[in-house]
Amino acid sequence: MKLHEYQGKELLRQFGVNVQDGKVAYTPDEVRSIAREYGQAVVVKAQVHVGGRGKAGGVKFSPTIDKAFENAEKILGMDIKGLTVNKVLVTKAVDIDAGTEYYVGMIVDRNVQSFTLMACAEGGMEIEELAAERPEAIIRHRVDPITGLRPYEAREVAIRAGFKGNLNKIADMMVKMSQAALARDAVLVEINPLFIDADGTPLALDTKFEIDDNAMYRHKDLLDWRELEAEHPLEIEASKYGFAYVKLDDGNVGVLGNGAGIVMTSLDVVNRAGAKPANFLDIGGGAKAEIVYNAVKLVSKDTDVKAIFINIFGGITRADEVAKGVIQALKEGILTKPVRMRIAGTAEEEAKALLAEVNSPLIQMYPDMFQAAEAASRDANSAGEAK
Ligand code: GDP
Ligand code: MN
Repeated sequence: MKLHEYQGKELLRQFGVNVQDGKVAYTPDEVRSIAREYGQAVVVKAQVHVGGRGKAGGVKFSPTIDKAFENAEKILGMDIKGLTVNKVLVTKAVDIDAGTEYYVGMIVDRNVQSFTLMACAEGGMEIEELAAERPEAIIRHRVDPITGLRPYEAREVAIRAGFKGNLNKIADMMVKMSQAALARDAVLVEINPLFIDADGTPLALDTKFEIDDNAMYRHKDLLDWRELEAEHPLEIEASKYGFAYVKLDDGNVGVLGNGAGIVMTSLDVVNRAGAKPANFLDIGGGAKAEIVYNAVKLVSKDTDVKAIFINIFGGITRADEVAKGVIQALKEGILTKPVRMRIAGTAEEEAKALLAEVNSPLIQMYPDMFQAAEAASRDANSAGEAK
C-alpha cells in the first residue's frame, strides 16, 4: 500500500525523524487559512500516489498567502500521471538555497535478500533517474533485518555518500527512518529531499512510504488510509470482473492469457521480441466469450497499449469462445488496436473459421506464441515511432 507524503511523514515523525511541519487541505480556502496561520512562505504540494510531482507542476512554492491560495486553485483538481489531485499538503517552506538536498532511502532488496539502505549526495532528483544516469553516486549498504541499521553503519554510509553537516544527527535520522521501515513492514521508504540546513541539521522535506500489502494485517490502524480511488482506475475495473490484472510501467503491448504461468511467460516473450508488456492479465481457466470481451475492452482502454498479444492454451478454455469475445469487441468498435493471437488447443479450428469469416487485419492468429508476440511487438513499436 502506497502512502501519501503527509501519511509517510506522520509515520516518520512517530519514530522521531525531524519532519517539515505541514497540514492537509482540501480547498483553496483551507490552504489560505493554513498559510495565514503559519505566517511565512509555504509550499503547496499535491497528494497523489506518484513521484515527480514537482516536475508535473504539483509542488509550488508560495511566498504569500494570496499566492498559496492561487497555487491551491491550480493544483487541486489537477491531473498528475492519470491521478486527480483532491488534497494538498501545505508545508512551512524552507530556504533551499541556504542548505543542501540529499537522498536517503531503504528498500526491500531481493538481490541481497534483505533491506538495502541507499544514500546519495545528489538529492531532489528521482532516484530512478539518478540510478540510470550516475549509479556510482548512490551508496548502498545491506541492513540486517534482525539488528536493524546501527548508528555506526549509518555514519559510515553518510560519510561514503559525501554528506556534509552534523553527521551524528544525520546518522540518527537514518537509524530512525530504518526503524520506521522495519516496524511498519515497508518495502520502500525514501526521504528525498533530505534537507540539511546551514547548521547541519537534517529535515525531511518529502517522503515516499510503501507498506508490504501482505503485512497489512499487522497494520490495521493504517487501513483507513487505503484509497480505492487513488489506485489505478483500470485495476479497480479489473477487480470488478475478478481478473488478476497488474498495470506495468512503460509498456506498449497489452497482454492477456489464461493462467498466471502462461501470462508470465507471455511477458517474457514480449520482452524478448523487443517490446514491453503494459500489463499482466490473467482471465482464468474456462473463460467464455463475454469474459474475453471484457478483458479486451479493459486492455484497449489503456492508452499505453499499442497492440494486444493474446496467448491462450486451450484446455478447458475453448479457442472459439476466445475468438468470439475478440470479434464482439471488434464489431462494437471497442477494438481499435491490432490483436495478435496464439490460441492453441480445444476448438482451434472453429476459432480459425470464425476469424476467417470476419477477415479483419486487426485480428491475426499465429501458429505459435513467439510469432504472435513478435507481431504484436512489431506493431506496438512501429505505432510508437509513427507518433
Ligand atoms: P516530488 O517532485 O514528488 O519528489 O516532490 P518534492 O516534495 O520532493 O518536491 C519537489 C521539489 O520541490 C524538491 O526537490 C525541492 O527542490 C522543492 N521543495 C520542496 N519543499 C520545499 C521547500 O520547503 N522550499 C523550497 N524552496 N523548495 C522546496
Ligand atoms: Mn521528492
